[in-house]
Amino acid sequence: SVKADERNSYRVYTKVMQASTRTRLTLAGELRQAIARGEFHLVYQPSLDLRTRKLIAVEALLRWQHPERGEISPAEFIPLAESLGMVRAVGAWVIDAACRQIRAWLDAGLPMLRVAVNISASHLRHLQFVEDLRTTLQQHRCPPEALMIELTESAILHIGERSRHTLAALHELGIGVAVDDFGTGYSSLAYLKLPAIRTIKVDQSFVNGLPDDANDAAITRAILALAQSLGLEAIAEGIETEPQLAFLLAAGCLEGQGYLFARPLLPDAIAALLAESRMPPTSGAAPNAAMP
Ligand code: C2E
Ligand code: MG
Ligand code: MG
Ligand code: MG
Repeated sequence: SVKADERNSYRVYTKVMQASTRTRLTLAGELRQAIARGEFHLVYQPSLDLRTRKLIAVEALLRWQHPERGEISPAEFIPLAESLGMVRAVGAWVIDAACRQIRAWLDAGLPMLRVAVNISASHLRHLQFVEDLRTTLQQHRCPPEALMIELTESAILHIGERSRHTLAALHELGIGVAVDDFGTGYSSLAYLKLPAIRTIKVDQSFVNGLPDDANDAAITRAILALAQSLGLEAIAEGIETEPQLAFLLAAGCLEGQGYLFARPLLPDAIAALLAESRMPPTSGAAPNAAMP
């Protein structure tokens, strides 16, 4: 009967809900211990000069290697961290790890690379944010120009007076801010005038539809024109195909990242790319390639 069906589906639904609540609770406990257990690491996605395809920056992306569940996406555990009030602890870990990595690459004699980190709104709002950041930079003797902070559009829009001061302090420190997922949030553009804001990241949902989707093409062109007329850098994200790249180049976009060029990589792979980019271009047989 319909009633029995309803009851069954209700029971199934409740079971799923209970399971996911249990999973959530377990995960929450495990997230609290993840840092101490060394289960976090950063991967670095290359960002390239689109004309030369040379590596010019990287974006640090957080990975949680769970002992039983394997890799858990930040899209899943960052919101969980938010709801548990753990965003500051996680964010501080990310900044420390990124600065440590910047120092390690510099100490290895590699050219300086700009490293972008993603920061949650509630972390940015913390009173100690800039002071903590300054301390971490000093601890690792990390030049502030080497770090960039990515904030989502909605994070910036919800900033109050305090975050306005925070952004000004970041600007003073010499740290640039990029607006992540641009175009997907609310529609106020006033914050783009803040001097701390240097970069707009064209969201991958727009890049996806290029070059054929007329709306995505129009939005992308408009974002690039806006960036250009405000004197902001633009970085396109999620570039997966040559036609997308061709469109972006024709529209005047100078920097981008995406699977067409590289997936997020481990530090050694980034170091190899950096070392490679420093070597003179090889044509034909390398001088030291001939081995007896
Ligand atoms: P996001 O900052 O917009 O990062 C871009 C996401 O798109 C990354 O996913 C990246 O791996 C993925 N991606 C890059 N290129 C391509 C491509 O060509 N095609 C496709 N389909 N995807 C591409 P990821 O690493 O899973 O991160 C997802 C989101 O999680 C990030 O979006 C960011 O909002 C958040 N996140 C990541 N790391 C951190 C972190 O350390 N702290 C905070 N607060 N959030 C983070
Ligand atoms: Mg980002
Ligand atoms: Mg993004
Ligand atoms: Mg995104």
